[in-house]
Amino acid sequence: MTTIPAFDYLEQYRAIEDEFLDAAKRVFESGRLILGSEVTGFEQRLSDFLGAPAHAVGVASGTDALVIALRAVGVSTGDQVITAANTAVATVSAIREVGARPRLCDADPETALMDVEGLAELLDDRVKAIVPVHLYGSVVDVPGLVAQIGGRSIAVVEDCAQALGSTLHGRSVGLLGNAGAFSFYPTKNLGAFGDGGACLSVDRELTERMRVLRSHGMGADGDVVADGVCSRLDELQAALLTVKLRHLVRHLERRREIASRYDRLLGAGVKRLRATPGASPAPHLYVVRVRDRDRVKAMLAERGIETGIHYARPIHHMTAYEDLGYPRGSFPHAERLAREVLSLPLYPELGDDAVKRVCEAVNEIVGSEPPG
Ligand SMILES: *Cc1c(COP(=O)(O)O)cnc(C)c1O
Repeated sequence: MTTIPAFDYLEQYRAIEDEFLDAAKRVFESGRLILGSEVTGFEQRLSDFLGAPAHAVGVASGTDALVIALRAVGVSTGDQVITAANTAVATVSAIREVGARPRLCDADPETALMDVEGLAELLDDRVKAIVPVHLYGSVVDVPGLVAQIGGRSIAVVEDCAQALGSTLHGRSVGLLGNAGAFSFYPTKNLGAFGDGGACLSVDRELTERMRVLRSHGMGADGDVVADGVCSRLDELQAALLTVKLRHLVRHLERRREIASRYDRLLGAGVKRLRATPGASPAPHLYVVRVRDRDRVKAMLAERGIETGIHYARPIHHMTAYEDLGYPRGSFPHAERLAREVLSLPLYPELGDDAVKRVCEAVNEIVGSEPPG
């Protein structure tokens, strides 16, 4: 019995190995390793793909992309930033890194996304920004969120780390609010061979501020005009990402195909998440909700099926975030999701037979009849 891994980049690497090696050789022989033409070229192609008006800003990680975007919209020490209780730690560590205080909100149990309706009661004068997280490739209703903000001066910085390729009413994530942050962590929809990230905005001026911030706040003439950071995408990762960008449409199409196969082949007793109306998700993770999740995960592992959990602990259950002052029970939906979510294997090279094998195993373990 062959094992079905939760994630595997090797098959994809082998399929287009020559392109990667050519790109790497080009960088090695170029004489330039930081902020050269590979980064500029990638930034431009990424923006073209997303439909962004200004070139994206390549940075060292998705976490840094969030940090830089938050700083660019003016978040600093003592400000408050609202985000989801059920997100990757990176969302919250980025908020803390800029000196702001994260305020959490519960999830909508149907979508697992930030409960936009429930936000209203959290909005006050101390809130400087909101970070909606497009979890699993699903899309938060950002226009709905902006409507909740009303006339208040609160920026929206989208965490798009898991949602590259996702759109809402045809518009890419990251361009729905004031700024967006993407991650090229290897497992993500566009994964590098190491760390990488990008931030962008619909606002050209804001994009240029982010570009300055990523390299010590230094302007074109060498003067330092803001307190920046040192966080640059390097030439090698940019060249490798440019190769992957050429195959991205096909890879995202395959992700969608796998997700719809799961939709079809999983039994009615296996609880799925709902998408936001108007959204066209580029699925990053295929997440189901099961009771007795850890047992289901172990039984799948016995059958050679690796799965993931995103995430086993909501943010307020993390030791370092106890000082946020949210006792257990504060976010019942996020807490329940943490107990029930299970991520089934999803990556472009996953074959139809493997998807079928996963569905049969899940249906059997959960005791659910496959759809007629
Ligand atoms: C991966 C991820 C990040 C951070 O990206 P890195 O590139 O690992 O720093 C941020 N937010 C979410 C939701 C993520 O999944």
